[in-house]
Amino acid sequence: MQERYCKCGNQVIVQYQNKRSEDWFTRFWIMGSTFGKTVRVCPHCGNPLNIDSLK
Ligand SMILES: [Zn+2]
Repeated sequence: MQERYCKCGNQVIVQYQNKRSEDWFTRFWIMGSTFGKTVRVCPHCGNPLNIDSLK
């Protein structure tokens, strides 16, 4: 797991998961009340979470 930050400064937890060799996918979490639930957009600013756009 890695800690990244949205453009708005919200902390996002990223997990890379590798089911089989070439089948990677990425899950995002936000610490706090929604922890445990994966999210696709930042709950703070609504920006779509994309690993390439996170700091
Ligand atoms: Zn944000």
